[in-house]
Amino acid sequence: MARPLTATIDLNAVLHNYRYAKKLHPTCKAFAVVKSNAYGHGAIKVALHLDNEADAFAVAAIEEAIALREAGVVSPIMLLEGVFEADEWELCEKHGFWSAIENDLQLNWLVSSKAKIEKVFVKLDTGMHRLGVNKDEASILVETLRKSGQADEVLLMTHFACADDLSDITTMNQLTYFEKARYEIGVIEASVANSAAIMKWSVPEGGWIRPGIMLYGISPFAGLTGQALGLAPVMTLSSKVISVRSLKKGDKVGYALSYEAMGDHQLATVAVGYGDGYPRHAKDGTPLVLNGFPAQLAGRVSMDMITVRLTNSDQSLEIGQDAILWGGDMPVENVADFAGTIGYELVTRMTSRPHYRYI
Ligand code: PLP
Repeated sequence: MARPLTATIDLNAVLHNYRYAKKLHPTCKAFAVVKSNAYGHGAIKVALHLDNEADAFAVAAIEEAIALREAGVVSPIMLLEGVFEADEWELCEKHGFWSAIENDLQLNWLVSSKAKIEKVFVKLDTGMHRLGVNKDEASILVETLRKSGQADEVLLMTHFACADDLSDITTMNQLTYFEKARYEIGVIEASVANSAAIMKWSVPEGGWIRPGIMLYGISPFAGLTGQALGLAPVMTLSSKVISVRSLKKGDKVGYALSYEAMGDHQLATVAVGYGDGYPRHAKDGTPLVLNGFPAQLAGRVSMDMITVRLTNSDQSLEIGQDAILWGGDMPVENVADFAGTIGYELVTRMTSRPHYRYI
């Protein structure tokens, strides 16, 4: 017997979504972004599945890259935020990692280390003002890198602040600044596009795209699901009913008794809670599927359980019936809306407690 909560990860769906990103930009190579445990999907499993096909992987920290290498991943791995400490450059050389450089400190550490790196991406701040340098500073970084002879290839990258908002001109402004810098500095290859840009913006051809959330079948755009964008859903979070009771009008449920039955109806308790990664802030009414029927969260999310009622069916509820929290036709984006967050956060915050099943 085991607690019935399961996260089923469809690895071929990830592959499908990776291919889809590349099909949209046939002249580009693509990093499969697997940082933060592949957005909660299991970085080693995902990377090993894509290893034969991915041009390279991208992570946020060298620990993540080393874990992939040690698990047998052979494709190049890129550190999207560069190194955090001087001695990481030697490890980059040893494991063949590529890296971003976004400041003088990282560059100075590289020069002192004498490490040889195959590809270094100088990060240009084109308007997000989080990481990276301006055009003139980037030009000096590129020049110094070239003189050092420590990078086989120097590329230029940037990251978009608002690509998920198609009405926001920031993306066009960022692109214009980027292309001007690329021309002035004379760096040929570029990497600019995250999932939103890959799917909806016109981005430089011939460089490197960086699909993240779209690999996991999730939309970066508000009000649009991954499936509506042609992506294959990857994670299904499912559980079972572990208790059923009949409420009378006026009965109250759960912590703080925040749910009150408006009429007589059945109530199911399902084995999933915030201890598993289900969002505690999911509001009363958050959708799920119970025994194949639309259902809604009733009251507060507990650590191990939620309470649920059918939305508009008088089907009889029973212990052991299936509950789909998200996945398939129950988009995680919709659940995220009810929790005041984004699909990215829901999957990335999954804990190790559910059973993970890879298909
Ligand atoms: N590139 C960089 C530098 C990132 O930090 C990220 C993720 O945050 C990505 C690409 C992938 O973004 P997305 O998941 O929106 O595709």
